[in-house]
Amino acid sequence: MKVGIIGTGYVGLPTGVGLAELGNEVTCIDREPKKIEALKAGKLTLYEDGLEELFHKNVKAGRIRFTTSMKEGVGNADLVIIAVGTPPHPVTKEADMKYIHAAATELAEYLNGYTVIATKSTVPVGTGDDVEALISKKNPFADFDVVSLPEFLREGFAVHDFFHPDRIVVGANTEKARNVIKELYKPFEGKTNMLFVKRRSSETIKYASNAFLAIKIHYINEMADFCEKTGADITEVAKGMGLDTRIGPRFLNPGPGYGGSCFPKDTMAMAYMARQNNVEMTLINAAIEGNLRRKKQMAERILDAVKEIENPKIAVLGLAFKDGTDDCRESPAMEIVGELINNKADVTAYDPKAMGTACFLLGDKINYADDMYSALKGADVLAVLTEWQEFRTLDLKKTAEIMRHKNIVDCRNLLDAEEAKQNGFVYRGIGR
Ligand code: NAD
Repeated sequence: MKVGIIGTGYVGLPTGVGLAELGNEVTCIDREPKKIEALKAGKLTLYEDGLEELFHKNVKAGRIRFTTSMKEGVGNADLVIIAVGTPPHPVTKEADMKYIHAAATELAEYLNGYTVIATKSTVPVGTGDDVEALISKKNPFADFDVVSLPEFLREGFAVHDFFHPDRIVVGANTEKARNVIKELYKPFEGKTNMLFVKRRSSETIKYASNAFLAIKIHYINEMADFCEKTGADITEVAKGMGLDTRIGPRFLNPGPGYGGSCFPKDTMAMAYMARQNNVEMTLINAAIEGNLRRKKQMAERILDAVKEIENPKIAVLGLAFKDGTDDCRESPAMEIVGELINNKADVTAYDPKAMGTACFLLGDKINYADDMYSALKGADVLAVLTEWQEFRTLDLKKTAEIMRHKNIVDCRNLLDAEEAKQNGFVYRGIGR
């Protein structure tokens, strides 16, 4: 199938590479010439585990191309996937639809023969209708259907999730469009759940899922606070809860709050849609407010560990919003570092993949280290903020020798608390 993908970000690029690997002829379109130049030159513009190898393989096989030209990407396509950003509106916090509307308007004039337009971006309920109207207005003779094709990939696991999706949800209002999507996902037939629903249901499924997961994280974080006050251990509590198949073990890891490019913005957008429709959604609002507070609390916890020390040096391990990615958007780690900077703290940070992204955002407000141990040299407290597996390998004996004071605030419960104590550290984890 000939597929055009608009947007080569964390969703568009892995999707394009994955579809090319399945044998489709893919053209990725982005409005940022720098990204397209880099991709054309064989350089990936973001980090995703396993993406590099597949990218080179498919470029070499001629199954994937990159362009800034809408005409080139859309003109011959059977299917056009919209994967542009839907960031929070700066004032109302609803999903800002300017990129979606621009993409729909720009692609309209190049449609050529029957084409399915699939929206992979996370968009408010009713967006399919708007996209349809925009295209028809610009090109009244276009033969097309608009479907909702929400993306559920996890950043850091995008390639894995593309080939092993939990489910594929398709919101299509016509049989013809459903058949095009069925054809696209034929390789997954019998291997995953494929759910065909009304377009508005599909748009809602994405927000309902993300809001639910955010609430689950917020819940376990509050439960961790409770454990700290009562002498219970959240690791044990979460394990006990997770064995109940109705609850399940995932998303029960307490931490510094949820972050990333999806949960914060999608919960706010869902809350906005609820308000617009006069529906009370107390859980989502509680999660949003609690999550904002949590990052401040984590910063206070780190500062508290060094409150007796003059001009304390803080070593931060982890800046990305989660492991496996270089994405720092709405990263709890970055927000905690921001709080530390506001408190005039001297911060040195290390992240295995996100140094470039973080440096672009923070500039010279902090110091950057080349590896874990360089960050720790002379530090008064170590704050673990992202759950990179590499941090688990930290030699705590060596760490104790190179730090000035032995304090650890482990916001991911990644280090061995007992071993830390044996090496003389004052160790503070989450919920235990
Ligand atoms: P991103 O910001 O990484 O990428 C968006 C890309 O679209 C950018 O490269 C931008 O230049 C390009 N773009 C914007 N307008 C364009 C236009 N008119 N023409 C061509 N290119 C254009 O965003 P992302 O993280 O990939 O997210 C995309 C969408 O997918 C969002 O709605 C997001 O909520 C949703 N989503 C993201 C994830 C995730 O893990 N990142 C997961 C599921 C769903």
